[in-house]
Amino acid sequence: MNRTLTCIGCPMGCQIEVELDEAGNFVSSKGWSCNIGKRYAQEEVTAPVRTVTALMEVTDRTEPLSVKTAHPIPKGKIFESLEQIKNHKVNAPVHIGDVVIEDVCGTGIPVIATKNIP
Ligand code: SF4
Repeated sequence: MNRTLTCIGCPMGCQIEVELDEAGNFVSSKGWSCNIGKRYAQEEVTAPVRTVTALMEVTDRTEPLSVKTAHPIPKGKIFESLEQIKNHKVNAPVHIGDVVIEDVCGTGIPVIATKNIP
C-alpha cells in the first residue's frame, strides 16, 4: 500500500511516496530532498503533528494576541486546542515568547505569544 504526501517543510513542496505494509505501518519513503521531508513522511503516517496558530482574547483590549503552540501537537488535538485557546483570556502586558497556556489539552506543550501587547 502506498500514500503520496506533499511535504510541508518548505515551499518546494516535494512529493513523497510512502510505502506502508498491510497493517498500515511505515516501510519506506522516497521523493524527499532533505531529512526534514524524510522525517515528515514517517511522522505523517505514524503520529501526525502540527503547530497550531490562533488568536487569543486580551482583557480590556480590542486587539487580539497572536499565539502558537511552542511545538507541534498531535493532529487529533487541533480542534480541542483551538477551543481552549478561544476560551482563554490573557492580561496585558504580554511579550513575544510568554507562555499563555502551560499545557494545551494535556499535550504537555505550552501555547506562547507571538506578538507584544504593551
Ligand atoms: S523534503 Fe525538504 S526540500 Fe522538499 S519540501 Fe520537504 S523540507 Fe522542503
